[in-house]
Amino acid sequence: MTEVKAEEKVVKKFRKPAKKKVCAFCVSNETIDYKDVAKIRKYITEKGKILPRRQTGVCSQHQRELSNAIKRARNMALLPYVGD
Ligand SMILES: [Zn+2]
Repeated sequence: MTEVKAEEKVVKKFRKPAKKKVCAFCVSNETIDYKDVAKIRKYITEKGKILPRRQTGVCSQHQRELSNAIKRARNMALLPYVGD
């Protein structure tokens, strides 16, 4: 019994925390443009939903700009509201 518990502890100890991603927009110093569909497309799912920050690693500032760009692109019919 005690041995099993000790093993579990070891497993937990060696489980690495998720690596912190660096915001792609901060690194490249790019501006987010709603007309740049190719770039924006990487941050939406195939169903057209905006990916959460924890998946993309984009910082809060750029995520906000990105979501605005995506919404604008949808409005301009560059991106779908609902994917196929
Ligand atoms: Zn950023």
